[in-house]
Amino acid sequence: MLRLFDTARGGVYPVEPRDPGKVSMYVCGPTVYGPPHVGHGRFSLVFDVIRRYLEWSGFEVTYVSNITDVDDNIINRAARENVDWTDVATYWERAWYEAMDAIGVKRPNVDPHASAFIERMVELVGDLVEHGVAYETADGVYFQAERVEDYGLLARQSIDSLRAGARVETIEEKRSPVDFALWKKAKPGEPSWPSPWGDGRPGWHTECVVMSLDILGDGFDIHGGGQDLAFPHHENERAQAVAEGHTFVRHWVHNGWVVVEGEKMSKSLGNFTNLMDLVEWGDPRAYRLLVLRSHYRAPIEVTRVSVADAGEALRRLDRFAETFAAAQGGVADEAALARFREVMDDDLGTPAAMAMLFDLVTRANSDQDTAAAAAAFEICRAVGLELRTTSGEIGEKALELARRRDEARAAKDWALADALRDELIEMGYEVEDTPTGTRLRTR
Ligand SMILES: [Zn+2]
Repeated sequence: MLRLFDTARGGVYPVEPRDPGKVSMYVCGPTVYGPPHVGHGRFSLVFDVIRRYLEWSGFEVTYVSNITDVDDNIINRAARENVDWTDVATYWERAWYEAMDAIGVKRPNVDPHASAFIERMVELVGDLVEHGVAYETADGVYFQAERVEDYGLLARQSIDSLRAGARVETIEEKRSPVDFALWKKAKPGEPSWPSPWGDGRPGWHTECVVMSLDILGDGFDIHGGGQDLAFPHHENERAQAVAEGHTFVRHWVHNGWVVVEGEKMSKSLGNFTNLMDLVEWGDPRAYRLLVLRSHYRAPIEVTRVSVADAGEALRRLDRFAETFAAAQGGVADEAALARFREVMDDDLGTPAAMAMLFDLVTRANSDQDTAAAAAAFEICRAVGLELRTTSGEIGEKALELARRRDEARAAKDWALADALRDELIEMGYEVEDTPTGTRLRTR
């Protein structure tokens, strides 16, 4: 069984599902007010790999990831652009899924939208007030964090040190600096919903606790997100669940940062911040391979050099896939797959798994070993690495036109290059410019 680091227990433990054979996952999704960045891409890929690996291992996975469509950033952007807040949310949600599709992240089974769960959130806040763990102030309703005995569990800090480290607040009515907003009373012109404490909107932490428990039920298996969500977001979700007597989450999983230096440095080093820039510049599959080559809890840096390098490795895999297409689904080297399971089950050892994959490819190439090839295909399937076998699908004429187009581009004959591209598109191909030339895909 897959063993993963559990933030709450501070160690690696087996994922023991609540319902045998089934795994329920809730991964905190985006607040939709701008383009997804590489940090979004990383958590999406990490949890997509966990999901796919569990499915490959025979589990039925229910994957829930929310869309936060009620938020200060959305409201501010709408005010700036003089449009309705729902237009901002709808537009950037579409952009989100386009980016996820481009990097091959499977769509969630359920993607709850905060705006559809407001009534349930009002109910929870009401219960918390009634039970004396939340209190009303002039600007909202706050949760009294100190009422939860082990508050600080996910932060891995005591409540005293959290209190000492908290930002000095200007809201005098807050009883403690660690208390957090469950309900924010609306200011004029803001979107709002009715509640016993006046019109307003829920806090982010209330959103995820309500939606995850409503959809997956008490004691669901994996709650995930980037490391920056462990505290305060997940801590505060958990505090509300615990205060209401819920068994919340069995396994807390958090992935490491994407390290991007300051703006100036990011330009000079060619680091990516916008996920779509990365997708459009390199091979869209490259980010998955980069993520797989690092341990999910380690920080990674995403640069043009590392993306191009991953793209090169993918071309090697594609060439392998073309050569050994017939081996796919055939009898695989069982010992290799057993070893693959072993490294993956040990806290998702994808760097070792990728090293194994490339070893298998080398073995297949040098020994014409179809069992090694079949195992390599299986590994790619298990982690969601899509291999492209193009030679069968793309006609000779198209390849010839692509070659002529590369020559035209090298000679800076843009008119000819554009004409050849148009011809290829007319023939039904998608034409992509990559650092190594024109890439064709059938539509
Ligand atoms: Zn969340």
